[in-house]
Amino acid sequence: MLGSLRKLVEYVVGDSIPALVRWGKPVPRSIIRGIQADGFRAVVSYAAQRQKFFARRLREKRVDPARVRRPEDLGDIFTTPEDLLSFPPEDFLCQEPQAVFETTGTSGAPKQVYFGYDELEFIARYQAAAFHENGLRPGDRVVCTFDAAYWISSWLTFLACQQMGVFCSAIGKPHPRELYSRLGLYRYNVIVADPTWLVSLSEIAEKEETFPVKLIFAAGDRMTEVYRRYVQDVWQAPVLLGYGSTEMGGGLGMECRRQDGIHVDEYNFLLEILDPDSNGYGELVVTTLARRTLPLIRYRVRDITRLIDEPCPCGATLRRIAGIKGRRDEMVVMGAGNMHPEIFENVLHDVAGVSDNWQVAVRQEGTHDILEFRCELADGADPSQVEAAVRENLKSRYPEVWANQVCGMYQLAFRFLSAGTITQGRKPRRLVDERSG
Ligand SMILES: [Zn+2]
Repeated sequence: MLGSLRKLVEYVVGDSIPALVRWGKPVPRSIIRGIQADGFRAVVSYAAQRQKFFARRLREKRVDPARVRRPEDLGDIFTTPEDLLSFPPEDFLCQEPQAVFETTGTSGAPKQVYFGYDELEFIARYQAAAFHENGLRPGDRVVCTFDAAYWISSWLTFLACQQMGVFCSAIGKPHPRELYSRLGLYRYNVIVADPTWLVSLSEIAEKEETFPVKLIFAAGDRMTEVYRRYVQDVWQAPVLLGYGSTEMGGGLGMECRRQDGIHVDEYNFLLEILDPDSNGYGELVVTTLARRTLPLIRYRVRDITRLIDEPCPCGATLRRIAGIKGRRDEMVVMGAGNMHPEIFENVLHDVAGVSDNWQVAVRQEGTHDILEFRCELADGADPSQVEAAVRENLKSRYPEVWANQVCGMYQLAFRFLSAGTITQGRKPRRLVDERSG
């Protein structure tokens, strides 16, 4: 059972991806709002009966699910990333799952998100629709280098291509050099990858030679305009950004060729912006409308963005969100992976000569992410020994972070300062993102 929306769309549209795009692109806002309202009521009523976590919240807050028509009717009932970590999967599962994926995260326990095969297939159709709208066609050859493992996006890209009848290699995340040597061999003309990996690949191509590439899709990380322009210049192809996460079942949306905001799949997701500032920026909150294995009601994504209400010149009536401004918590997503302050606490705490007053900054130099350790040294401490110890700790304690450095995804830098130089407030900010826009 996947709800009335899916049945309606399947009935009207059938199986063809081009038909799905033709149908979905110009739908009037009033109809989209209607589909969302129906979908929201349906998923609330479903989860009230089947999801222990949500049912418990309704009881605690004395909310009658039959009276819930809009997200606001749920008051302060949300689902948070912390909830997913603190309660067992059984509290969220509404039916027997067939697949599990995990959220990426270099530190801390990964969050588990379960799906049915039919749901993965369904999600892939909408990803395929976004690919089609942006010009991907049978005859193209896609290579997808999203990390496979427990991350969902590689599999979804493969399933989306399968549904479109498009050639696809979803190969996990190899060293860019490894893929570069096969670009000509397999005549890939569409690349799907994360931003920093794309930059590394582009650096090789810039030095050696480029191959004819028609489209590049990037997701999984923030991509600054500097990086985007660089990659576009090297390949002479548009770089289009997608946005999503495992909790959202892969993609929440994708840019159109205008590259001005991410069109959100409003048929399958209901978005709210929590506590918006005067410019409309606030925390993104997402309700999954179509999923029934593990629906998420008002999931707090922790990313800051705003909704763009103005219609897009491309003609799609699906609203857009602006590029993600940052995370509510301190995590920084960069070439090294998802960086948390905790990582650097674990790396630095036993390095002799480093005081407790330190900070790690993510900077950008040209097209490179720099991870800069700023440490105050005790008198007599040898900077080169400290640097060697930090590198050794990073290598042995976070081999994945280290491997991304070896791959050229980012560079390490060190600044050694005398005591009292790093002035911090009461709550020190251990990890700062100093990259521009
Ligand atoms: Zn558009």
